Amino acid sequence: MNKREIIHDGVSIKIYGTENPEQVLIHFTDEITAYNKIKKAMITDKGIYCNGVSCMISQLLQDGGVPTHFIRQISSRDQLCWRASVIPMEVIVRNVVAGSLAQRLGIPEGLIPKEPIYDLCYKSDDLCDPIINDYHALALGLVNRTDLETIYTMTKQVNAILFPIFRKVGITLVDFKIEFGHLADGRLVMSDDITPDTARFWDIETGNKLDKDRFRHDKGHVGEAYKTVYDRLKSVF
Ligand code: 5GP
Repeated sequence: MNKREIIHDGVSIKIYGTENPEQVLIHFTDEITAYNKIKKAMITDKGIYCNGVSCMISQLLQDGGVPTHFIRQISSRDQLCWRASVIPMEVIVRNVVAGSLAQRLGIPEGLIPKEPIYDLCYKSDDLCDPIINDYHALALGLVNRTDLETIYTMTKQVNAILFPIFRKVGITLVDFKIEFGHLADGRLVMSDDITPDTARFWDIETGNKLDKDRFRHDKGHVGEAYKTVYDRLKSVF
């Protein structure tokens, strides 16, 4: 698989064109960032664990009937995906209160809401991805009504598939962020990777954090935590 022009030169992820104009190669680096890229570091083999977790999750979602941009894993750090026109909107699912929700509403971390909470954010580095609601998403033309309904349906399906899989390997899927996009043929798909960079994973037994919060809050052992998520998921994949 030959990499061609760079389409997205991110810190943790780089996206390249391929010989097929409808396909892209997503490459995972060992770099980690937080707080809108203010904090940066290298974590050995992080790219391998993130690509591995992302590929396994995308395959599990596709097997469960969720359309995604994923085609196949190409190497330890690379995956082949369909090129998508990504909607500039993040969908966050929260099964347990943590992070910005705990801060914003003054709710203790770890509280389990009566039902999962869904947040929408407008994707903008300059504005730090502000939270929006369905009305903003429709009024700003980010999505139409049909796509918004499909996005919620698919997001609930993603959670329904992943939550029990992670529970089986002793991990609580606390929350995660996903994005959606349209393929060249117009199909709406999940066009994102779910990894310890984009989700919160807590060990059920110990409560240990196995995700980017270790880096955000200087807790150390970041690579080990990412490897734990990778190893446990692999054990049931
Ligand atoms: P929070 O709103 O608590 O900061 O994040 C909720 C969840 O979504 C966390 O798992 C977090 O990692 C993920 N998330 C939210 N926004 C972003 C983002 O811009 N980039 C990444 N990588 N993850 C995000």
